[in-house]
Amino acid sequence: MKVIVLGAGVLGVTTAYYLAKQGAEVEVLDRQAGPGMETSFANAGELSYGMTSPWAAPGIPMKAVKWLFMRHRPLFIWPLISPTMWAWGIRMLSNCNADSYKINKGRMVRISNYSRDQLTDLMRDVKLDFDQRERGTLQLFRTEKQVKSSKADQEVLAEYDSPFEVLDKDACIAAEPALALVKKKFVGGLRLTADRTGDCRMFTLALADKAAELGVKFRYGVTIDKFTTENGHITGVHTDMGQETADKYVCCLGPYAPVLLKTIGIRLPIYPIKGYSITLPVTDPDAAPQSTIMDETHKVAITRLGDRIRVAGQAEIIGYNKRLGAHATDTVRYVVSDLFPKGGDVSRAEGWTGLRPMTPDGTPVIGPTRFDNLFLNTGHGTLGWTMACGSGRAVADAVLGKEPEISFDGLTAARYGQ
Ligand SMILES: Cc1cc2nc3c(=O)[nH]c(=O)nc-3n(C[C@H](O)[C@H](O)[C@H](O)COP(=O)(O)OP(=O)(O)OC[C@H]3O[C@@H](n4cnc5c(N)ncnc54)[C@H](O)[C@@H]3O)c2cc1C
Repeated sequence: MKVIVLGAGVLGVTTAYYLAKQGAEVEVLDRQAGPGMETSFANAGELSYGMTSPWAAPGIPMKAVKWLFMRHRPLFIWPLISPTMWAWGIRMLSNCNADSYKINKGRMVRISNYSRDQLTDLMRDVKLDFDQRERGTLQLFRTEKQVKSSKADQEVLAEYDSPFEVLDKDACIAAEPALALVKKKFVGGLRLTADRTGDCRMFTLALADKAAELGVKFRYGVTIDKFTTENGHITGVHTDMGQETADKYVCCLGPYAPVLLKTIGIRLPIYPIKGYSITLPVTDPDAAPQSTIMDETHKVAITRLGDRIRVAGQAEIIGYNKRLGAHATDTVRYVVSDLFPKGGDVSRAEGWTGLRPMTPDGTPVIGPTRFDNLFLNTGHGTLGWTMACGSGRAVADAVLGKEPEISFDGLTAARYGQ
């Protein structure tokens, strides 16, 4: 069976790998010059099994208003005249209630936990170097109010069997010794002990090499324009290099999936939510983070990746805009300088911006579609790296006609009536 995978981000590459591993003939098409060049390029590097939750949660609308007025704000909304953007926003707000949160969280955790197990198995199978560590995430609280409101999160974590520790100031320093230098800046933390970290792009590159060894053909510099269809069947993809055909197709185009799918009448509410990161060299390993520290006030994650520090965050609602303005990374620069003033060299930081493929309910869109040979693996929003191995494996199994090990119930485009 020949399968074309559209997109060579972390989702496309994991899908291709699991397909090839089970004997399929696979071709991957991407417009970039290599794998993982767009949203998978420089994310926060968190494998956030414990933090797998939708952004749409009770209380978020009020918090969002507060965030909009902060000096180093986690959220920025441009007042664009865009019906798609406002429709997405209204849909997201309609998910900010306890019942929807529970449903959406349950769906996301299903993929996330499966992903953790798949990554563990994968690393047993093949040697992959992506600056990985298994030292958890430390959610750092700067105020007593944050400590108090974390009680609700702890109940949810316990309900989903996600291991955690509540830490006082000294215990935070025991987990992240460099925080001893900034003792006065925080009051406590919550440590998600099962979380891991690693460089998503390095992983994507390394796994693409393993996939190529299994026979996957990667074709870069190919822009896909549209699908061709006949009676509920995909007959090919039209690209700037000509028509490509296969038996089955998997769409892993991240934030651009809805653009292409719209041409065949599949309307997905995936909106590009812009984020930023910087990557800086470690100058003093003892003054640098050991794992991920999530600054709860600014919603910025600081992650140790080998001899580098990755700092990422912000949610900017501005459509498909990938401009990296002169002051765009001021917030992430401020947070790392504030918490790890001697850990890395901010003057040598490299800036980056990427578009999270966000659904309003936080859950990705994976599995079959109404076209008998088209499958989706997209819409992973803030957690595409965390969910990649589980999503890739489950979709590959479905493409090959096998029963996936997790149910697609509530994960497919059918939940949007598509
Ligand atoms: C600031 C930031 C921090 C993040 N931090 C984390 C984190 O810590 N942990 C986590 O789990 N997730 C994180 N994420 C989310 C994660 O990075 C994404 O969910 C994930 O990278 C999405 O992968 P993808 O393969 O779906 O999309 P992409 O990586 O964007 O891949 C899509 C591919 O499709 C190709 N493509 C698109 N359109 C076309 C076309 N027309 N023709 C040909 N090719 C096309 C692109 O070139 C691209 O290679 C973060 C995101 C951001 C922005």
